Amino acid sequence: MLKIGCHLSASKGYLHMGEEALSIDANTFQFFTRNPRGGKAKDLDFEDIAAFRKLAEENNFAPILAHAPYTLNPCGKDDRVRAFAFEVMADDMRRLAHTPDSYYNFHPGSHVGQGIDRGIELICELLDVILKENIGPMVLLETMSGKGSEVGSRFEELKAIIDRAEHSDRIGVCLDTCHVHDAGYDIVNDLDGVLAEFDRIVGLDRLKTIHVNDSKNPFGSHKDRHEKLGDGTLGFEAIAQVINHPALRDLPFYLETPNELDGYANEIRSLRSVYRE
Ligand code: FE
Ligand code: FE
Ligand code: ZN
Repeated sequence: MLKIGCHLSASKGYLHMGEEALSIDANTFQFFTRNPRGGKAKDLDFEDIAAFRKLAEENNFAPILAHAPYTLNPCGKDDRVRAFAFEVMADDMRRLAHTPDSYYNFHPGSHVGQGIDRGIELICELLDVILKENIGPMVLLETMSGKGSEVGSRFEELKAIIDRAEHSDRIGVCLDTCHVHDAGYDIVNDLDGVLAEFDRIVGLDRLKTIHVNDSKNPFGSHKDRHEKLGDGTLGFEAIAQVINHPALRDLPFYLETPNELDGYANEIRSLRSVYRE
């Protein structure tokens, strides 16, 4: 059974997202823990969470994926930027403790000229404090396209974070197909080779979720602009290979393509039609 969902708006709560997912034949979803630009999260509604958890269980949902706001930068240069990252992450982890079947995905951050090594050091400092509390789900480092000074566009960088962090048993990876392609990993012509490289460097056991996106930009462009499946430089055939690959096919997949709900419904239908049961 294909585990597939898409990014949904969290503004109407968990139960609403669960029902929306079901309405498009999805069995999971991704959402922002708060406004993607940051700011305060809504108060938790425990009735809503209980109703969602019942629905998720009845419908065999795969883990849901919480996405940290884009403005969260664990390796910013400014103390206030890092303090904000800490506060948001700590609050998100406390909130996500109420939806245990979940993962918390975040962008490792941008080192803004401090260098990759310093960036990795700062990311690990934050993770050491956050994960020490032992509250909330496993955190996932998202593979990035390498635009600007982003950390995490090379598998070696993700591995360095995992190796240096104290509580690495609670750190996994979310692979974004648009990002890795833009970063220069050729998943269109050599998916096997890229996954073998990932396995050698990071270990496939760390890979927990996949963001399924086509890309508006050419291979290796370091750009990060998502495209609808089949309309970009990856193409639908490459995406079909990703969801069917023996090393990936049992993981949950999340669409972050530029779509409204009906567009997501179409993409999920297309993916289900090519998934080999
Ligand atoms: Fe992301
Ligand atoms: Fe992504
Ligand atoms: Zn992206």
